[in-house]
This record gives sequence, C-alpha cells and structure tokens, in this order.
Amino acid sequence: MSKPDVLVVGAGVVGCAIAYRLARRGLSVVVLERSVPGSEASSAAAGMLAAQMESHEAGSSLSLAIASRDRFAQWAEDLRADTGIDVEYRRCGILNVAFTEEQARVAEHHAAMQSDRGLSAEPISASELRELEPAISEHAVSAIRFERDARVDPPKLLRALRIAAEHRGAQFLTGSVVRRLVVHEDRAEAIELEGGRRLSGGSIVIAAGPWSNLIPGVPLGPEDVRPARGQIVELLGPRPLIKRCIWGPGVYLSPRDDGRLLLGSTTEFVGFERLVTAGAVHDLLAAALALVPKLRELELTRSWAAFRPFTKDGRPRIGKSSVEGLLLATGHFRNGILLSPITAEMIESIVTNSPLPEGTESSVEA
Ligand SMILES: Cc1cc2nc3c(=O)[nH]c(=O)nc-3n(C[C@H](O)[C@H](O)[C@H](O)COP(=O)(O)OP(=O)(O)OC[C@H]3O[C@@H](n4cnc5c(N)ncnc54)[C@H](O)[C@@H]3O)c2cc1C
Repeated sequence: MSKPDVLVVGAGVVGCAIAYRLARRGLSVVVLERSVPGSEASSAAAGMLAAQMESHEAGSSLSLAIASRDRFAQWAEDLRADTGIDVEYRRCGILNVAFTEEQARVAEHHAAMQSDRGLSAEPISASELRELEPAISEHAVSAIRFERDARVDPPKLLRALRIAAEHRGAQFLTGSVVRRLVVHEDRAEAIELEGGRRLSGGSIVIAAGPWSNLIPGVPLGPEDVRPARGQIVELLGPRPLIKRCIWGPGVYLSPRDDGRLLLGSTTEFVGFERLVTAGAVHDLLAAALALVPKLRELELTRSWAAFRPFTKDGRPRIGKSSVEGLLLATGHFRNGILLSPITAEMIESIVTNSPLPEGTESSVEA
C-alpha cells in the first residue's frame, strides 16, 4: 500500500468524521480499526446534540459545542446526498424539567447565562410544559426549553459516515489492532499493527477514544484520558410518547422516530468493566417513570454499557501533539457525537495548513 496523506487510528464517530472530511477534500486516508466502525461508545450513545443543555459555563467549550451543533443540518444533508441514509437529525429541542423550586432556580440561572449571550433558553411554566409534552408528570413545576438543541441516531450516523467516507475514497482496515506508534527523533514515523506490519502516513491522527493513551508511543499520560462508563436502558412503545429530548432529575430521555426511547445514563469510573448493573437499571427506570409515568406501559427491549473518553478538565484533546506529525482527536467525554463535525473540520485545517474554523482557536492543542 502506498503511503496515504493521513492515517487515522480508531473508527468511532471521531475517526469516521475525520476520514469523511479529509476524503471529501481529496486527501488519501486509511483508517485502522481493531473491530468494526462504531463498535464502541459511538454507536452506544443517546445521540443528543445537547450543546446548550450540557454547557453550564460560558467560554470556549460552549462556543465549540454551538459551532458543532449548528453544522449538523448541513452535515446530515451531505450524508444523505452521499449515501441515501437519513441519520435522523431532528431539531426537536431539549426540555430541562424541574420538580422543586430549588431545581427550577438552578435551571433558570443556567438559562440566564445563555440568554445573556444571545442563545435561546426559554423558561416554560408547568401549564406550557404540559401543552408541549402532555406525557410529563403533573408534579413538574417548570422547565427550560433549549429549542435549538437536537438529536441524531448514532448507529445510523456511524453507518452513513463510514459509507460516505469509503464512497469518497477513504479506506477502512477493520480487524487492525494498533500495537504501538513508532517514533523516531520526535517524529511519528509509523503505526505498528499486531503481527508486526507497519504503515506510515503523512500525518497520523489518534482517535481511539478512551484507549488513546494506551497505545505505546502516544504522548498522553495514564490520567489524560480515562474511561467513564455509561449505561443506557432502551424502551419501545407503539408510537413516540414524547417529541423532544427531556432531562429530569437523575435521567434523560432521548426519543427515536420508531417509538424507541433511550434512558440514560450513569457516569462511573470502573475501568473497562463492561457491565449493565441492576442498580443502574433500577435508578434509570425509577427516575424515568417519575418524569413520564406512562413509560410504565412500554416494553423494556435492551440495555447496554459503553465507555466515554473522559478528561479531567472536561475538554477534548484536538490538535497537534509533542510528537511531530502526530495529531490528537480524543477526550470528547459526554459530547463526542455532538463535537464530531467541528473536530473533523479542525483536523482538516491542521493537516492542510489552513485557518482553523472561526472561534475554535482556543480549543485546539498547540
Ligand atoms: C451511554 C452513553 C451515552 C452517550 N450519549 C451521548 C450523546 O447523547 N451525545 C453525544 O454527543 N455524546 C454522547 N456520548 C459520548 C460519545 O459516545 C463519545 O464521546 C464518542 O462516541 C467518542 O467517540 P470516539 O470516536 O472518540 O471513541 P470511540 O467510539 O470509543 O471509538 C474509538 C475507536 O477506536 C478503536 N480502537 C481503540 N484502540 C485501538 C487500537 N489499539 N487499535 C485499533 N483500534 C482501536 C475502538 O475499537 C473504537 O472503535 C455518550 C456515551 C455513552 C457511553
């Protein structure tokens, strides 16, 4: 195989988005994935594009999240044009529901911080809430409506990204376990696979989620990226009970067009122990039934656990590293689906020596 412009390690949503973006730009890309694309957190995610709901402080993280969320409509259209797949991008909005005056006060403070910055974060009374979502418990006292937040279906997004990237010329080498990064005189020279085969690229991008710092040679410490387990319970009804994504105490609900509803999630630091626990299923169901009592009638179809790439400061690592020719695209924690389009664009800018997307300069690794 001739040396590609870019080698990407990991075919989660981040690696696939980068491959798609670079291939569209006409660069040659090879993606190395030990399993199949999207086999880890990226297909397990709830798919909320919760840029405002998840941002409790003003600053570069909020700007990055908004910039990425606002790229999704075009991205979904591009993917449909390239593959025919509807990734179920729906600008349905997110409601943050309060059950006590104290919860309402905290939520209003969060909303005020965003309204002050010109973002839509609208306080909703209990009666308005029931008009919008009649299935929500009558004990709710108020809500905040983030009407621009949205959702996608992660497994469909992953399938579309992979097909679109391949269609544009990217090559996926599945079943390729990366054993180490070969560094010579502080320059990333090659990737060595299990079995000893070596591949090199003009640039190498590490997008291996919470495994990124476990690849020998990658300049990330053991605490730089850690797995944070999240569990999800899936329910199925004959038709969608709620239209929007809904957050309440101890749970969020993310609907699908086909009547499925994802209840999430936990954040647990238990290493790579892939378990669904009785306690988590109990807690998620209890919180969800308190939020929407009619969920009691739905079928419990599945549950699963996966690992988010957590970083201590909550910021992803996107950009250059201390090793020349090696780029990082990892640590997206709770928002990797949301941040995938902007991450891909940032990596494209660096690889092609172009200006970074507006407003992302302070989010990039030097
Ligand atoms: C329960 C849950 C709910 C979530 N909900 C949301 C949500 O609603 N919205 C949102 O934006 N985000 C959500 N997330 C977070 C999101 O899923 C992650 O941030 C995102 O998937 C990370 O993508 P990634 O590509 O970095 O990592 P991953 O999806 O983990 O992909 C990394 C890939 O690298 C491969 N790999 C690793 N090591 C090697 C190696 N040595 N050789 C070859 N390949 C390797 C893996 O097999 C894997 O396919 C959720 C996560 C969880 C767990």
